Amino acid sequence: MLYHSTHNPSFRVDLKEAILRSLPPDNGLYMPDRLPVLDADFWKIWRFLSFQEIGFAVAEAFFGEDVPAPALREIVEGTLAFDAPLVTLGPGDHILELFHGPTLAFKDFGARFMARLMAWLTRGDDRTLTVLVATSGDTGGAVASAFHHVPGTRVVILYPKGKVSGLQEKQLTALGGNITALEIDGTFDDCQALVKSAFLDRDLAEKLNLTSANSINLARLVPQSFYYIHAARQLPEGVAPVFVVPSGNFGNLTAGLLAMKLGLPVDHFVAATNRNDVVPEFLRSGIYQPRPSVATLSNAMDVGAPSNFVRMQALFGGSWEDMKSKISGAWFTDDQTRAAIREVKSLFDYEIDPHGAIGWLAARSWRAAHPCASTITLETAHPAKFPDVMEAELGQGAVPIPERLAVLADREKVAIPLGIDKAVFRDWLLSH
Ligand SMILES: *Cc1c(COP(=O)(O)O)cnc(C)c1O
Repeated sequence: MLYHSTHNPSFRVDLKEAILRSLPPDNGLYMPDRLPVLDADFWKIWRFLSFQEIGFAVAEAFFGEDVPAPALREIVEGTLAFDAPLVTLGPGDHILELFHGPTLAFKDFGARFMARLMAWLTRGDDRTLTVLVATSGDTGGAVASAFHHVPGTRVVILYPKGKVSGLQEKQLTALGGNITALEIDGTFDDCQALVKSAFLDRDLAEKLNLTSANSINLARLVPQSFYYIHAARQLPEGVAPVFVVPSGNFGNLTAGLLAMKLGLPVDHFVAATNRNDVVPEFLRSGIYQPRPSVATLSNAMDVGAPSNFVRMQALFGGSWEDMKSKISGAWFTDDQTRAAIREVKSLFDYEIDPHGAIGWLAARSWRAAHPCASTITLETAHPAKFPDVMEAELGQGAVPIPERLAVLADREKVAIPLGIDKAVFRDWLLSH
């Protein structure tokens, strides 16, 4: 399979280049040249397959021409070492828990698949691969965990100073070994711009054997489509879900679109955001106006220039009408988020995190307007990752911290402070 740039369909590269170089030189994003479709045989039996079998079928549809089946099966099974349970709160009101991985957020799926695929693609190479990643909270932790101790790799994480939670910060800064954290005096968009500048510098990218782990990397998107199919088959036969996706860079929602292109029956998507409502605004008005992000309680969604938007556009052939016939937007304030956390607890005795809470609000308003709809809200992180908000709304001790997160709290933070100057960043990369 070949991959082309969203800026120039005739610029094509192979899988290794698309995954390891991550970004085409023209500043677009890679898309598969041909969008795979799962055949009728798959859709006859999909309800009876295991999560791993679904994952393998999807992975094979995308990567089967380039990665032999036994290797791909191992990559998928290594990735899906934990479940994604569907929890039903009320009639038509389902929550897909994507936080059962090692760092308690959905990004574990993409990061674990990507680390394994990259390791396979570089088997036999003798140069260290430098994985560069900007994070607004959870990406960095998932990537660090996925690559920790992977031979032949080092990870450099950029995160915005003071804008991630204390435990998130520990997930980025306390692992050591082949993981280095840079604490950037700026916003997430600044971090993302620094990472982009390093990749656009072909000389630097080549010298350091740079690769990216942001949601712009296709290796992260594809495994995120596994759980859309896994979730949908748990609804009664004939019921096509409305997927409600708490969104920031829109990688997760784009993965849902890929699942739909594979043949999954989807009634509709709802793009749920906080006050960073660039995409809901586009869906409403047809005008796409990226702007600086503002800080909210749901910080992993504080993105003002969502990087996967161009892929969403590509999947709808650039048509706003087509996109809005399949995706609607909704956004909510911090006060509404807080109220939703309390309401979900009191109605269902369920602890929902601030990102999932925004999704749940969007799902509720969708069902109010479409009473027959079955919504599946993606719960993107474990509530224990946001102790300040959860305790403020539900009281102390409302959400016990899972063991795998608790051990990090006692470890020492090690981060290197850096500004947003691109030349300084370049020098740091070259000298370390
Ligand atoms: C990253 C993240 C999001 C946003 O996902 P995108 O794929 O960037 O849209 C939402 N919630 C949580 C908890 C996240 O970590």
